[in-house]
Amino acid sequence: TLKEKSQLLTPLNTQNLLDSVDAFLFDCDGVIWKGDSLIDGVSDTLDFLRSMGKKLVFVTNNSTKSRRQYAKKFHSVGISVSEDEIFSSSFAAAMYLKVNKFPKEKKVSLLEENVSLSSKLHTLNEEAMAAKPQVYVIGEEGILEELELAGFTPLGGPVGAVVVGLDQYINFYKLQYGTLCIRENPGCLFIATNRDAVGNLTDLQEWPGAGCMVGAICGTTQKDPIVVGKPSTFLMDFLLEKFNIPTSKMCMVGDRLDTDILFGQNSGCRTLLVFSGVTKESDLQDPSNQIHPEYMTTTLSDILHLANN
Ligand code: PLP
Ligand code: CA
Repeated sequence: TLKEKSQLLTPLNTQNLLDSVDAFLFDCDGVIWKGDSLIDGVSDTLDFLRSMGKKLVFVTNNSTKSRRQYAKKFHSVGISVSEDEIFSSSFAAAMYLKVNKFPKEKKVSLLEENVSLSSKLHTLNEEAMAAKPQVYVIGEEGILEELELAGFTPLGGPVGAVVVGLDQYINFYKLQYGTLCIRENPGCLFIATNRDAVGNLTDLQEWPGAGCMVGAICGTTQKDPIVVGKPSTFLMDFLLEKFNIPTSKMCMVGDRLDTDILFGQNSGCRTLLVFSGVTKESDLQDPSNQIHPEYMTTTLSDILHLANN
């Protein structure tokens, strides 16, 4: 069978892409920044695209921040982005519970009640469960903030959903509690913000991604999670609600094949892979790779330089 070939960006196809696309969807880590360091030329490129009237959207699988915190991070690196242009996997987790009509009752937290996890788990019964399911989070502030904004109580009580994202403070006891929640509460949802294998948590090296925490709970429960971040197209509905642009007029720019490029392809977007993140050109050509973007280039600012060529 013929293998799809990705084209290197050239002045000509860059112009064609710019002419035929109304919105650019950017993965963040590996495209916009690495850790806290902005990638060279990104700011000018975003300004250029905005000056051409393109809509810019940021779709990140990194669940450690809320949209508000991302807007702040963009601001701190000198890029003006509003919260509603940001679609994070933390937001996706909260929206998943919301659109699935997950019960929203407030409940005092375990910590407030000062009850040990094991005795609390013991008192669970199905009746209480049905009335007041809560969300247990293995993750960081971004998920907690988005859940709270969406009206959920991410602590304590009978647990109706476990949300797992990247957690730098993961430990044996969190794994135990998350596992028990899923195993002991009938119908408890197991939601993964994303399953990225690694990410550039800092600019100099790759670190374990949320796939590590999600994989641990898959291992203990033998269950598969509902993934709400890329490559799931769950967030696309929210994006479409905000931006009235057909997906064929969108171009997803990313550095990972199995999240970003697959998300773009699953959604019917054009796709551009950049080599400024975790994927190397040799990964693309690896015979085991099945995911081929339409375009590939070294780094985001190539768009700017090729367009002005
Ligand atoms: N999750 C974590 C914790 C990360 O550190 C990263 C990248 O650094 C990602 C996810 C991937 O984020 P993005 O989708 O913006 O590349
Ligand atoms: Ca990325």
